[in-house]
Amino acid sequence: MTSRKPLARHRRIVIKIGSALLVDRKSGMKASWLEAMCADIASLKQRGADVLVVSSGAIALGRTVLDLPAGALKLEESQAAAAVGQIALARAWSEGLSRHSIVAGQILLTLGDTEERRRYLNARATINQLLKIGAVPIINENDTVATSEIRYGDNDRLAARVATMTGADLLVLLSDIDGLYTAPPHLDPAAQFLETIATITPEIEAMAGGAASELSRGGMRTKIEAGKIATGSGCAMIIASGKPDAPLSAIENGARSSWFAPSGTPVTARKTWIAGQLLPAGELHLDEGAVAALSAGKSLLPAGVRAVVGAFHRGDTVAILSPEGREIARGLASYDADEARQIAGRKSKEIEAILGYAGRAAMVHRDDMVMTAPAASSSKRQEETKAHA
Ligand code: GLU
Repeated sequence: MTSRKPLARHRRIVIKIGSALLVDRKSGMKASWLEAMCADIASLKQRGADVLVVSSGAIALGRTVLDLPAGALKLEESQAAAAVGQIALARAWSEGLSRHSIVAGQILLTLGDTEERRRYLNARATINQLLKIGAVPIINENDTVATSEIRYGDNDRLAARVATMTGADLLVLLSDIDGLYTAPPHLDPAAQFLETIATITPEIEAMAGGAASELSRGGMRTKIEAGKIATGSGCAMIIASGKPDAPLSAIENGARSSWFAPSGTPVTARKTWIAGQLLPAGELHLDEGAVAALSAGKSLLPAGVRAVVGAFHRGDTVAILSPEGREIARGLASYDADEARQIAGRKSKEIEAILGYAGRAAMVHRDDMVMTAPAASSSKRQEETKAHA
């Protein structure tokens, strides 16, 4: 396992900032917190790191400006709140960073901007250009146009997607939670803090629970999902409390935080895109033999597929599941779903007779596939995850 490095030793860092850190429900923007954060960012940049910020707070800030009552907002209300709040949010970042002679550039993304390959490449090119000229991209979901089917909904996964998209080597999630515990600490006094997470195993996922506060959409669950996206493409992740002023300096000075090790396997940019897809179009359920073949780096043959779920087309991303129903890989399907159903469980040499044409031997070719979780949680990996009371 690679070991934890000081923040400034990373080449490119994505910092995700939760709404509750930036916005006070009564008074609006927390100016002094932002000021200290901008100083932290300037210090990282001075030491040579590229910095990207995924900033929440548009809806919370708009709510305060518009004096909307507490409680759930209707979609159009939250979109209007985001429209009002995003201007103020971007302005605050721009002014805060300009005090350190840093230029900020606003990027608003929707799910389609990262899920569709062509739009993904466009967004990536813009962000990379901002980094090239030394600017700090200030990124948020485009909440004014995003509706539930086409939205991330939480900035944890958006930040992870941005990290993989830009080849970042560190993602820092700052919120009101200082890291991962074996159980929710406010409910279970015996909960242990986890300082290092070598691999996101099913046990780690089970610890995530569902807690979320009024101001933020993500709880620990979306943070662990973010961790799977980021670490799966070789980017380390830190979950730390953003509550103290200058939380990045605090982390550098040893404040408590959970560190998720990046996976050791470097993957190609295309595979990074496949692994990070949030909405696979279907599922392929495998038998044990196929799981073993995939773990050994082989392609997925129709013979090892027990069931095909969903209505996908050739070239769409599908989730690949073990017999227990756990996702172990993602890949691009070589067949439409109805064809895949016809050839599932059959030998590759039978494909021509069944479909009437000689298709590809593999249902998902290994070049189009990326393992997203260990097929079985090995005890060695468990040992590497250190618990601290
Ligand atoms: N995009 C939302 C906002 O800026 C926040 C989503 C989140 O907190 O995860 O208000």
